[in-house]
Amino acid sequence: MTENQPFNAYKGLSESEERFRTLVTATSDVVYRMSADWKVMRQLNGGNFLLDTGEPDEHWLQKYIHPIDQQVVKDAIDEALGKKQMFRLEHRVLRADGTIGWVLSTAVPILNESGDIIEWFGTASDVSGRKATEEALRQARDEAETQRRLYEIVAANTPDLVYVFDPNYIFTFANPALLKMWGKSWDDAVGKGLLDNGYEPWHAEMHEREIDHVVKTKESIRGEIAFPHATLGKRIYDYIFSPVVNAQGEVEAIAGTTRDISDIKENEQRKNDFISMVSHELKTPLTSVISNVQVAQKRAIQNNDTIAAGMLERAGTQLGKMTRMINGFLNVSRLESGRIQIDHQLFDLSDLMKEVEDDAAATMLGHSIRIEPSPEIWINADREKISQVFNNLLSNAVKYSPLCSTIYISCSADNDFVKVCVRDEGIGVSEEDLPLIFERYYRVKGAEANHISGFGIGLYLCSEIVKLHGGSIWAESKPGEGSTFCFTLPKN
Ligand code: ADP
Repeated sequence: MTENQPFNAYKGLSESEERFRTLVTATSDVVYRMSADWKVMRQLNGGNFLLDTGEPDEHWLQKYIHPIDQQVVKDAIDEALGKKQMFRLEHRVLRADGTIGWVLSTAVPILNESGDIIEWFGTASDVSGRKATEEALRQARDEAETQRRLYEIVAANTPDLVYVFDPNYIFTFANPALLKMWGKSWDDAVGKGLLDNGYEPWHAEMHEREIDHVVKTKESIRGEIAFPHATLGKRIYDYIFSPVVNAQGEVEAIAGTTRDISDIKENEQRKNDFISMVSHELKTPLTSVISNVQVAQKRAIQNNDTIAAGMLERAGTQLGKMTRMINGFLNVSRLESGRIQIDHQLFDLSDLMKEVEDDAAATMLGHSIRIEPSPEIWINADREKISQVFNNLLSNAVKYSPLCSTIYISCSADNDFVKVCVRDEGIGVSEEDLPLIFERYYRVKGAEANHISGFGIGLYLCSEIVKLHGGSIWAESKPGEGSTFCFTLPKN
């Protein structure tokens, strides 16, 4: 300010400074004064956010405004200048600490008596926090949207049925495969319950109870069901309902997937029928071969032909093995078609164990079998089938453990259940295989087990027989440390 300036101008300026001071004290935000054409920043109080400046500054744009936003700032200034209207813009700034921040900047023109702009007064508030939240939200929304599109494409293109229920059994999503199966459009089907979508009352009721179960336990549920397809007729489906748990730990929805397994089932049925037919066909000639071998063996003994008698004896043992295999297959096919009956009878389990021991002593010569002495235990079960379970577990123990090792059998009972365990010192079963060995046709793969023959049906039959009795069966084992197979049976 020089002394030869006209008094009015001096007065105007000091008034401006006065106004500026008032603004600065009234607000904690950034306050600034700009020349009429915005070329020079006359003053800036940065409020600990931007660098203060008391001196006129022509390079304020480069100094304070983020390069990306410099053009928009200029455009907004031009517009405000052109219309002599308020300048208002949200833009990025370079903060005093060198970081990038966001401000909402507002400036008003100060006019003289003739309506010309003499300068601009502005304030800017720090909106970096809000911007960061907005940005995070936008990113989250973008990610959610990408994921939604991804799942939508997966769900739209799978032949499996994909759907979502709310906890009130209402469909909130159904993929195109499901809509096609129903023969309905999205609008016809979504927002409706099971009955409205054509499920029979017993079927709807069943799924509703399953949904209740998923909501209550927060665990998935799996089942198999036959259901009419709109065009393909009756099909068999395998389905899984899974809980969708929210941040509060509550089940807010139930996601379901269903797969058409009719073809798999049909193939399985064909395979079972084939195995059953072959086994039946083999049984008749086998029975005849066995009886002939037995007669020939007797003759050989009578004729003191020890060599022939020995050979026929070994043939008989192998024929016995074959018979057991064929019976195993026949039992599987009977089980599959629900033709296995449990004939309950009251018998003493310790007596059965004694029988098993005597048989083992005669046939399992390479191993020592130790049966823990047990008092009489009377149970109501199918004696023949329980004997089969015993024999399967025992012959596995022999098969999968080295010669001369010991097999221990124990039996205990409480008021309601008996528990039988067969322990061996054999090759054991790995943790991954343990849950699978009771499945039909499952055999452990590996150098040790590969050369041992079998079809993977023994344990499956054991488990089905025990289950049909209302008991349970399991195995505990570590590779190389032997295995213990146990089963329980209700006494009555
Ligand atoms: P199989 O013996 O004819 O293969 P099983 O159903 O009886 O069929 O047994 C399934 C699988 O479980 C076997 O292949 C074997 O790998 C494993 N297994 C069964 N019993 C034992 C055992 N006592 N020790 C180690 N592995 C066993």
